[in-house]
Amino acid sequence: MEKSERKILMGKMLFHRGVRMKSLVKKDEYSKCWMCGDLADTIEHKIKCSQLKLTFPNISLKVGDRLIKTNSDGNKDGVVQGWNSNKVKYNKKNLCEKCNSNTSQPWDKAYDDFVSFIRENPKLVYKNRVVDLKLVYGKEVKKCQADLFKYFAKAFGCSIYEKYHEVPTTILDVIGGKNYGKNFFITISVIEEIYDYNPAIKDLLGCSDLISIDDGNIPIAWRWSQNLAWFVIDFRLNLVTPEGFNPWTGKSKKILFSPSIK
Ligand SMILES: [Zn+2]
Repeated sequence: MEKSERKILMGKMLFHRGVRMKSLVKKDEYSKCWMCGDLADTIEHKIKCSQLKLTFPNISLKVGDRLIKTNSDGNKDGVVQGWNSNKVKYNKKNLCEKCNSNTSQPWDKAYDDFVSFIRENPKLVYKNRVVDLKLVYGKEVKKCQADLFKYFAKAFGCSIYEKYHEVPTTILDVIGGKNYGKNFFITISVIEEIYDYNPAIKDLLGCSDLISIDDGNIPIAWRWSQNLAWFVIDFRLNLVTPEGFNPWTGKSKKILFSPSIK
């Protein structure tokens, strides 16, 4: 891939634009931290800042070196000027300082360690289509796998909250360490075509638009995805698992991949 094609895909790649839903959280309540209810004074990145830095270590405004954001219609949405650009963040404040730093720091670290393992062992992961979390976290595996799942819940919660939907109890139960069942899960799939030229996860990151399904009145099910070059993490809540897919609910030490995306 040419440098000039470096891209962040926001919602372009895999899914259709979500149905616009009736708001459940009033706009004047929007400045609340969805995790704890305190005043929200921080804005979370849509794509984790640490992953932006690893994927695009040198962002410059020079033509050929620039980082381009595309929209869900595939059209260019401008140049990203740096890792903290508004273009890579949500539009509204969504978390308080405490939740976004102290509380969720171990979850963020668990995610970064997870992605680093894939970055460092692309052949192994690609060939076996599984991530053995014992290899990622060693003796800390039990705590870290729970933290990783909490990171996924946090990322999904921010995406849901952005649409003015109330963050579902299941997500709050995950981050609160309560029993949360199996209604929220992630699946991981490989895009073989991208792996072929980009096993090192360079120059390409993205996330989809949020898709929500309603019961005629309120949203009741959601889907969203993150895309790190050749692997895609798909988030689902209150939706059935597609046939042949391997849902991960944070409860096993191996994340088995699902069928690849052609
Ligand atoms: Zn908070």
